[in-house]
Amino acid sequence: QSRVVIIGAGIVGCSLADELTERGWTNVTVLEQGPLFATGGSTSHAPGLVFATSGSKTLTKFAQYTVSKFSELRHEGDPCFDALGGLELATTTARWHDLQRKHGLATSWGVRSRLITPQECVEMWPTVDVDQVIGGLHTPDDGLAKAVPAGAEQARRALARGAVFLAHHTVVDVEQRGGRVSSVVTDKGAVPADMVVSTAGLWGPKIGAMAGVDIPLLPMAHQYAKTSPLPELSELGADPTSARRPILRHQDADLYFREHGDRLGIGSYAHRPMPIDLGDVPAFDDAAVMPSVLEFTEEDFEGSWKEARKLLPALHDTQVEEGFNGAMSFTTDGMPLMGESREVAGFWMAEAVWVTHSAGVARALAEWMTDGRSTVDVHDCDVHRFEQVQLDPGYVAERATRAFVEVYDVLHPLQPADTPRDLRTSPFHARQRELGAFFLEGAGWERPHWYEANAALADELSLPPRSEWASRYWSPIAAAEALATRNSVALFDMTPLKRLEVSGPGALDFLQRMTTNQMRRKPGAVSYTLLLDEAGGVRSDLTVARLGDEEFQVGVNSTLDLDWLLRHAPRDRSVSIRDITAGTCCIGVWGPNARALVQPLSSDDLSHERFGFFKARRVTIAGVPVTALRVSYVGELGWELYADADVGLRLWDALWEAGQNFGVVAAGRSAFNSMRIEKGYRAWGTDMTTEHNPFDAGVGFAVRMNKGDFVGRKALTDLADREPEHKLVPLLLDDPGHVVMGKEPVHTDAGTGYVTSATYGYTLERSIAYAWLPTPTTRPGDRVHVEYFGDRLPATVAEEPLFDPDMTRIRR
Ligand code: FAD
Repeated sequence: QSRVVIIGAGIVGCSLADELTERGWTNVTVLEQGPLFATGGSTSHAPGLVFATSGSKTLTKFAQYTVSKFSELRHEGDPCFDALGGLELATTTARWHDLQRKHGLATSWGVRSRLITPQECVEMWPTVDVDQVIGGLHTPDDGLAKAVPAGAEQARRALARGAVFLAHHTVVDVEQRGGRVSSVVTDKGAVPADMVVSTAGLWGPKIGAMAGVDIPLLPMAHQYAKTSPLPELSELGADPTSARRPILRHQDADLYFREHGDRLGIGSYAHRPMPIDLGDVPAFDDAAVMPSVLEFTEEDFEGSWKEARKLLPALHDTQVEEGFNGAMSFTTDGMPLMGESREVAGFWMAEAVWVTHSAGVARALAEWMTDGRSTVDVHDCDVHRFEQVQLDPGYVAERATRAFVEVYDVLHPLQPADTPRDLRTSPFHARQRELGAFFLEGAGWERPHWYEANAALADELSLPPRSEWASRYWSPIAAAEALATRNSVALFDMTPLKRLEVSGPGALDFLQRMTTNQMRRKPGAVSYTLLLDEAGGVRSDLTVARLGDEEFQVGVNSTLDLDWLLRHAPRDRSVSIRDITAGTCCIGVWGPNARALVQPLSSDDLSHERFGFFKARRVTIAGVPVTALRVSYVGELGWELYADADVGLRLWDALWEAGQNFGVVAAGRSAFNSMRIEKGYRAWGTDMTTEHNPFDAGVGFAVRMNKGDFVGRKALTDLADREPEHKLVPLLLDDPGHVVMGKEPVHTDAGTGYVTSATYGYTLERSIAYAWLPTPTTRPGDRVHVEYFGDRLPATVAEEPLFDPDMTRIRR
């Protein structure tokens, strides 16, 4: 049996020890620098509020599991979870709309919730000033986790299965041999290890540094205070763990509340960001209270105290009796950090995890360590999700600080960070600026969403009116760009699409084994194919161009695909995998006039007969060596033209100039996204993840079961005779004026599904939403309702693809 050493006995470490030993791991040692189980880490002082609903389905699933698990746990006779319910208040119209949206999210992810009136809010919380409140969201299954007892109880279960917990063992080093962890060194000696898991909370980066692994989180202080007793709560007595009313959030003032007997606890995210230097965190014995509890800076709480008393006038008769600045971890995108280091085999982590998500994260990591995958999709939590620029400590500090500031803000799904920006730009960036590009950011890239230069084209259009929410980060110019693409030709900057060069004598066999489609095709062939995990879940979708016998260009979705391929590559150097994204660029030239635009710039024959659909060739365009792929994500004739970055601008300028005869436009991602949804092309991560198999996701055409073995094939064979439980299907909304954003619930006769991608289709002149629906309500013509800000919008399941089913626009 592998020897597992877990570093840290906070809620995450304890939960992981339980989940691992439950799965049969017998040699598990948990090392803790403090005492057990009030260790001095963040868990020791967490007030334990669990609000399950989040914009992230993954986080919501983690929270739901935590609630169900803790509800079953009792420690020394007392329950570890108190299902008091949760109440979120709206005191502004923007928040009220957001709560309506949140009610939708809760419904999509299977969390019970109800929008309630101000009067009902006050019935639940009589101390709330009813005049402040516009409405509330009540979530009856939320409540209070008793973090230290829940940790202790999970540890007890692990101990009973043979795990060892060692208190007062401070880890000082993580040793490796041959690229693998070999032991964990403590102040009391070394513990041999085959696998090490850092669950060290805010100390994570320090543990990571011992192993030479980046753990990109920022420890920050967050204020928590307790009032003096309130007469209204006197019947609860002085026991600080007792509570009766729902946990309460007043997010318009960045505050939350819970009862501690007859006192109130108030947490605040309203204060200035207070990053913590790990060097300043004291050891357990040197700490005034405990290492993760810093001195209360009263002046930072003044604004919060004022707001708290405004909402709860009864607090005017009380004082802040005690308070502290508690330390906890923040990441750049608000998501946890999970997974195994690629560089140091056997070094795992589960960091930046709230109590709320702790058991869910622990279960997912235990499954991952045991089976190689977690049943819940964890791609948003994978520590390898970051690009190199996103690991820079300056970047981590700035973005994590923003995550703290925005923790309770009403955020639009498309809203970008203001800083740091301009981290990665394509060679066409200067031209894009000249054309008035409106940029949003993704993976560090500045990506034009539309160009103001095309504004005049939009003036002639008549589009259905949009809601204020759907109009944010959107412009009618996107419609003009989409129609210009359909009617003539447009240039799209596709540079941020990540691409790899996979080469070497073993490249073909490797790709054949890793992906679902037939790779054994002649050089010049392009294939759409999938990466599956062993359980047949879709890990990614790829476009693979065979450029030579031993050379492939692979278009991937993110750095996670690079990580997956590197992990599976043969060790004998027969395959080389190189990320060529930064050194190259890509222009998508698409539209019925694409060939007429490009051909005069090249002496290569670009006719359909000589350069067919889904083919790749090396050609010269305007003197620039280009790898051209005849593919189109927008459903129009044309190519993706790849060139080295240094000659990219020359290529853009030549295409631009030649395009003037055709009224060429530069088009952005907003138009692009609408067109790809009209065509039914899936966006991995949004439309499908590892939780879905290719057949249910509608990409079964990319699977060649008879090509020989490949990763995930066996699992797909087992699916053969099974009736799908749910399917991804397109919906057309009856009212084209309603454009939804994604993640909305869809009510059907057979149950509730949820929207993935949605858009207004400028060619179809319909509002489109792709949705996972329970079968059998997935047949074309089936009627459903999409819930959007409390309204139920009627829609019909449609046949796909919605646009150009015969591919006549592309194959010519
Ligand atoms: P920790 O509990 O910090 O555990 C890490 C452990 O690692 C510690 O015990 C530490 O001693 C040990 N360790 C570190 N370095 C070493 C070493 N070198 N050798 C050995 N051991 C080591 N979350 C919620 O979900 N709901 C809430 O209401 C909530 N309220 C909060 C309020 C405040 C004021 C704060 C600060 C946080 C709150 N949180 C809340 C967040 C939550 O407390 C943390 O996210 C969670 O407790 C982290 O658990 P953990 O096990 O990862 O970390």
